[in-house]
Amino acid sequence: MVRKRNIAAQRHADSLKRNEEKYASGLVSEKFPHVSGMVIKMTYYQETYDPVLMVRTINVYPTSPAYFHMNCAVKECDNGGFDLTGTIKRLVKNRKKSATGQMECSGNTGKKNSTHASISYEIDIKYKRASR
Ligand SMILES: [Zn+2]
Repeated sequence: MVRKRNIAAQRHADSLKRNEEKYASGLVSEKFPHVSGMVIKMTYYQETYDPVLMVRTINVYPTSPAYFHMNCAVKECDNGGFDLTGTIKRLVKNRKKSATGQMECSGNTGKKNSTHASISYEIDIKYKRASR
C-alpha cells in the first residue's frame, strides 16, 4: 500500500515537472516566429501480446506551448516518451515543410532489451509569408 502511494506521489511530481517544462518552453510564436502552424500526425505502437495501435493528430498553433514531448502510454514506463522538439527545431531552422520518421521509447519498464513502444510521425509545418 505504502509503495503504491509513493509511486502515485512520484507520478504526480513528474507530471508537475512536465507542466513546468511545458510553460518554461515558451510559446511557438516566441520560439518559432516564422511558423504559422504545424500538424503532427503520430501512429503509436505499443508492444504487448495484444499490440495497440493508436493514431493521434496534433494541431499546433502560434499560441501553443513550444513543447513536443509526447508521453509514453505504457503505465510501467519510467522516464519515457517521445521528444520531437529537436526534430522540429531542425526542420524550422532549415525551413523544411515536412518530415517523417520513427522513434522508440527509451523509457524503462523493468524489462531488459524490450522495445515496448514506438511511434512513427509525420510533421507538416506551415510558415508565414516573409513580410517585406
Ligand atoms: Zn515508454
